[in-house]
Amino acid sequence: MIKITLPDGGIKEYANGSTPMDVAKSISEGLARNVISAKFNNTIVETTTPLQEDGSLVLYTWNNPEGKRAFWHSTSHIVAQALENLYPGIKLTIGPAIENGFYYDVDFGEHTISEKDFPMIEKRALEIARGKHDYKMRPVSKADALAFYKSQNNAYKVELIENLEDGTITFCDHDTFTDLCRGGHIPNTGIVKAIKILSVAGAYWRGDENNPQLTRVYGISFPKQKELTEYLELLEEAKKRDHRKLGKELGLFTFSKKVGPGLPLWLPKGTALRERLEDFLKKAQKKAGYEMVSTPHIGQKELYVTSGHYAKYGKDSFQPIHTPKEDEEFLLKPMNCPHHCEIYNYAPHSYRDLPIRYAEFGTVYRYEQSGELHGLTRVRGFTQDDAHIFCTPDQLDQEFKNVIDLSLYVLESLGFDDFTAQVSIRDLDTPEKYIGSVENWERAEKAIINAAEAKGLDFVIEKGEAAFYGPKLDFMIKDALGRSWQLGTIQVDYNLPERFELTYKGSDNEEHRPVMIHRAPFGSMERFIALLLEHTGGNFPLWLTPEQAIVLPVSEKHEKYAEKVLNSLENNEIRALIDNRNETVGKKIREAEMNKIPFMLIVGDSEERDETISVRKHGGDDLGTIQISDFAHLVTKEINSTLKSF
Ligand SMILES: [Zn+2]
Ligand SMILES: [Zn+2]
Repeated sequence: MIKITLPDGGIKEYANGSTPMDVAKSISEGLARNVISAKFNNTIVETTTPLQEDGSLVLYTWNNPEGKRAFWHSTSHIVAQALENLYPGIKLTIGPAIENGFYYDVDFGEHTISEKDFPMIEKRALEIARGKHDYKMRPVSKADALAFYKSQNNAYKVELIENLEDGTITFCDHDTFTDLCRGGHIPNTGIVKAIKILSVAGAYWRGDENNPQLTRVYGISFPKQKELTEYLELLEEAKKRDHRKLGKELGLFTFSKKVGPGLPLWLPKGTALRERLEDFLKKAQKKAGYEMVSTPHIGQKELYVTSGHYAKYGKDSFQPIHTPKEDEEFLLKPMNCPHHCEIYNYAPHSYRDLPIRYAEFGTVYRYEQSGELHGLTRVRGFTQDDAHIFCTPDQLDQEFKNVIDLSLYVLESLGFDDFTAQVSIRDLDTPEKYIGSVENWERAEKAIINAAEAKGLDFVIEKGEAAFYGPKLDFMIKDALGRSWQLGTIQVDYNLPERFELTYKGSDNEEHRPVMIHRAPFGSMERFIALLLEHTGGNFPLWLTPEQAIVLPVSEKHEKYAEKVLNSLENNEIRALIDNRNETVGKKIREAEMNKIPFMLIVGDSEERDETISVRKHGGDDLGTIQISDFAHLVTKEINSTLKSF
């Protein structure tokens, strides 16, 4: 008999060789119907794997991320089989599950595949799925595995197998199909009821540009057709909210092939929007005791050798810039912190000077492979709303709380109410991974957890996720597709003060090391604006939106009055413009709606006579005919309801 511990802590005895499915059946028939994957002693296993020792078992259904992963990975085998049937001679490489669905990288040889082929692939894949074929794992010797793929002329699988240890290699069979696979499948193909091929894209073998280019086939699958329909609707909505599409439509930013990939160019409207965001944060920061600093975009290579960034980012970073004089090497800055440390070092400090808080909207540059670039969320040059706080260890607790307050203020003012917080701490089993004294770490971790609790944050603690230099707190939000992105971050750092030999004179007249906090409530201006676009669908909060109102004269003869209206709006500090094209009001309204302008002010004969405006809200609400002063009052009131002062 073996002892199996379940997640609720209960321990039960089972016959040696029982499977996770047997355990599920012993609990309930309902559970057994829904279990599709399992983890035994921290390793993902099949539901049919015989358990041969004591251990802890977790059973997964479709409702667990682990269950979805097994489901989607298993579907990738079905799709691979369908592709092999439809395109004889293709070479399969790898087919993992991803956050939403799966992909399979395929060398299609002389075949080509495009969107019009997707229905045929889906049809064949579903036929296979309906056969209810069991997934069966089978150990193979390295020699047999190599022989199998050599006979198929598949150099990719041969390369994968050559890197594996004999005795650890397994194949997965279902129906007539065999694939090299480590495991992690659902019980049988019949559970997959809906399959959709989503897209194809180029991908290099092993992500290396020097390798052959393969075709990556993306897909997703579900246990119910209804769930696929819902997912496709969500995708449609997400497409509408894609920040790259909205950014173009609203005239916020662009990219230029000549300037280079991953380097966003901000148009006047986008720049004004960024400035409003920056001013908003600067105002709050000033109240919170920050001082602005400015630093150059490059620094000597030595600076980043000292900071440790060169060792860490060197390879991924851009190559050094060489000046005409020999031995001078500069790097585009990947981080603002080293510059700020050197600002701290410009003069000696006493404990009475601390905390010192330096803030900068600092543009940094990091090399990303061109295939990784994505709109504003993954770029090569971006501006951080960066700040570094230098404080005594005693001040850490309070400083951390203050930074949380500021971060929450930022999220709230921009309408992000659905965020999660993650506290990343050390893994106590691997103390060698971290620098700084145990005492300091304990103090910092306690400070973060206390602060998060005191501020009523809904947070999770992730062990082993801390940076090597200190623990941190991240704010995560979801984009239109439900993908999680890290926005604001607050990190404690013992490393840089050490490396830059930062000191202050304590009340004991001795030299001490300050603690450093890195923080960026937006994260980066680029990513923040991208997520804000997707979150709001381009309907920015009224205080931030490019134009707050548009004046729509009914005909040419109302243009003069429209100008007058615009003037008084400007006097009331309302951002507005006029549409006096020779078009119908109906058309002007439709375009203003598309441009997401919050208020449309229609002026015709009666408005001109009574010195009023007819107000229509974005989305169609008619607010009736009112005086301009009343409208100004309404705008102020709406702004004040979302934008409180810090
Ligand atoms: Zn597999
Ligand atoms: Zn920093």
